Amino acid sequence: MKNILCLRPTFVLLLIALCSFSSVLGMANQPRNAKAKLIKALIIDGQNNHDQWAKVTYMMKRYLEETGKFSVDVQRTKYTWNGKDYVDKYKIAGLAPTVDLPKSKMDSSFHPNFAAYDVVICNFGWNAAPWAKETQEDFDRFVKKGGGLVIIHAADNSFPEWPAYNQMIGIGGWGNRTEKDGPYVYYDLNNQLVRDTAPGRAGSHGPQKDYQIIIRNANHPITKGMPLNWMHVQDEMYDRLRGPAENMEVLGTAFSSIENKGTGRHEPMLLTINYGKGRIFHTPMGHADYSVSCVGFITSILRGTQWAATGKVDIPIPADFPKPDVVSKREFKD
Ligand SMILES: [Zn+2]
Repeated sequence: MKNILCLRPTFVLLLIALCSFSSVLGMANQPRNAKAKLIKALIIDGQNNHDQWAKVTYMMKRYLEETGKFSVDVQRTKYTWNGKDYVDKYKIAGLAPTVDLPKSKMDSSFHPNFAAYDVVICNFGWNAAPWAKETQEDFDRFVKKGGGLVIIHAADNSFPEWPAYNQMIGIGGWGNRTEKDGPYVYYDLNNQLVRDTAPGRAGSHGPQKDYQIIIRNANHPITKGMPLNWMHVQDEMYDRLRGPAENMEVLGTAFSSIENKGTGRHEPMLLTINYGKGRIFHTPMGHADYSVSCVGFITSILRGTQWAATGKVDIPIPADFPKPDVVSKREFKD
């Protein structure tokens, strides 16, 4: 008994030594281990009313990959009317050459293997043609079973007649969305969250400008550690978004002033939605390359994508994160 007790510290020391040795080995193998743990992300795009959609995809892909935490594929529908110059300039390696399609016509060949990914980032836009039924069903199954989804800017304009998609985005705009689709959601001047069933169209915005984000839940993994107020670089500020808004949380808002042709309400800018077992991060920000170069936007997308994929966030708030009254952007080198 005494001997065993005497041996215990030796065993403990041996164990510590072995653990340390394993850590050293682990560090030596880090690239391989790190690669094994990469979050598999898929950006989908191809039909969007914004000229720069292909550049925005290119930027987001690079931002995600630069963290060392994601592998990023892109799959693209045949595209229709906008942004051909950007598609040609911001080519994605390995992506098949894109093909023109008559405006708003469905690309029935678009059918990504969603189940092969941890998270899908949707960069479609207003007036995107509906997907084939089988593609919709696969996507629905992917998110319901726990797949992550990220919705950027005009992706909340897409597919207004697809009920499951409206559930996933929580709230959306344009596309003849009205009170039939659900309430307006916003914070009022007393900082109360309102679900407003008043009749009316969904989606509008005033002239683009820099605007301040107000964090409404500083304890969520995506927003934790962000300043409670931070300035976003020039963007459209979507307002009057409405939809089912079920299982949805507003993490951050921006004040839409009447003077800037807005609503006089605090409009949702950072949102999460749960759909089945799936986690969704939705931001109506991200109109153009300059908006997407905002360090606040970049950080939100990186953390939102990681959260949607895993439920956790360990991507830090960078030192150049915007201040309450000062924007911060990173020049994007092609
Ligand atoms: Zn826009």
